[in-house]
Amino acid sequence: MISVDEALDSILGYVRVLEPEQKPILDCLGQVLAEDVCSTIDVPPLDNSAMDGYALRAEDTRGAGDSSPGYLTVVGELAAGSMPTEEVRPGTAIRIMTGAPLPQGADTVVRFEDTDELGRKSAGGGLSQIGILRQARKGLNVRRRGEDIARGDLVLKKGTLLRPQEIGMLASLGRTTTLVIRRPVVALLATGDELVAADQPLAPGKIYDSNTYTIAAEVSRYGGVPKILGIGRDSVQSLTEKIDQGLDADMLITSGGVSQGDYDMVKDVLAQRGEISFWTVRMKPGKPLAFGTMTKMEGERERKVPHLGLPGNPVSSMITFEQFARPAILKMMGRENLAKPTIRAIIDNDIGNNDGRRIFARVIVAKRDGQYYASLTGPQGSGILTSMTKANGLAVIPESSKGVKAGEMVDVQMLDWTEE
Ligand code: AMP
Ligand code: MG
Repeated sequence: MISVDEALDSILGYVRVLEPEQKPILDCLGQVLAEDVCSTIDVPPLDNSAMDGYALRAEDTRGAGDSSPGYLTVVGELAAGSMPTEEVRPGTAIRIMTGAPLPQGADTVVRFEDTDELGRKSAGGGLSQIGILRQARKGLNVRRRGEDIARGDLVLKKGTLLRPQEIGMLASLGRTTTLVIRRPVVALLATGDELVAADQPLAPGKIYDSNTYTIAAEVSRYGGVPKILGIGRDSVQSLTEKIDQGLDADMLITSGGVSQGDYDMVKDVLAQRGEISFWTVRMKPGKPLAFGTMTKMEGERERKVPHLGLPGNPVSSMITFEQFARPAILKMMGRENLAKPTIRAIIDNDIGNNDGRRIFARVIVAKRDGQYYASLTGPQGSGILTSMTKANGLAVIPESSKGVKAGEMVDVQMLDWTEE
């Protein structure tokens, strides 16, 4: 028997960060930047207005107030995207929209609300003159050229995870492609004579293959590209054929056929095609696990593909995926933080631990009075997939503990965060 941590260390020791590729920025969400990105432009490119208002000289507002407006002659109007043609001389102003470049001579923008514009308009008057109702300090409501980013600045460092804001940042620098660590292709094979594909009629004695779907969705969720191999039958030929189709991938994940004393052929075939260890991991659910490498000859060269054999039970396969395959995929993608987000919560149920395994109990986490509480979803059998569909977290009971009593604190790995 090995611990969850030993199994994970061993798996991570086998997977490598993949190579970079240049691709369109919109396809890079969730990928890791493989280059330093420096700006070739100033952002914003020119001094511009942060408000709709009047561009003027701060000097001309001295002493202005509600009862003592400073009157200025309006010499033009500027929309965002157009360049000023007029200059602001003493005693004049230009009506300006947010984002429009600050005209020559102006150093400040006074917003509409601080002028008598509304009063003039409702009185049916023109805007050839404007009354300024506030004294403004120089630079008010002006966004300076390069105040966000100066030309030459290092804006995004190699290793940065690309979220929507980083993708927008690349666009704001005029970039449409960038260099990122590529996404791993993960080949998925379900095994078992009892399995039927979801689009086929269900014959007696058969069950639908759900693992392919759960695991494919997990792979996509964490940024990989699933390659579905389908269902391998419990025969040497079927399994060998399917596995061979998966050896172009960056990782092969099989489910089923790895338990001790299993009747399946899976173990024999896996053992023949590569080097593999069959582990009993001190965890619940998900005890049996296989890990190794499959070998493929590419001409003279041997290509080694990491292989993870998950248990067949739907809950076990998903939880072992979360604990072992997810960090491996993230590592291949160049991610550094591989841990699942974890919170502390008060458990609402007693959970016993009598055989020194790390228990991953399916729970619903809710916040009450500023404190997180976790309640078991119901029956916890490793074949009960509804225990996962009802859950938003996995309460982790350490292998060293005899269990927890209701009211005690536990760590909960969040499967997802819902808006509160
Ligand atoms: P095994 O690990 O092959 O002994 O399978 C353990 C249990 O999981 C058995 O009840 C299988 O029928 C079930 N099982 C295996 N593979 C799948 C799958 N792809 N989808 C749903 N259930 C499965
Ligand atoms: Mg099986």
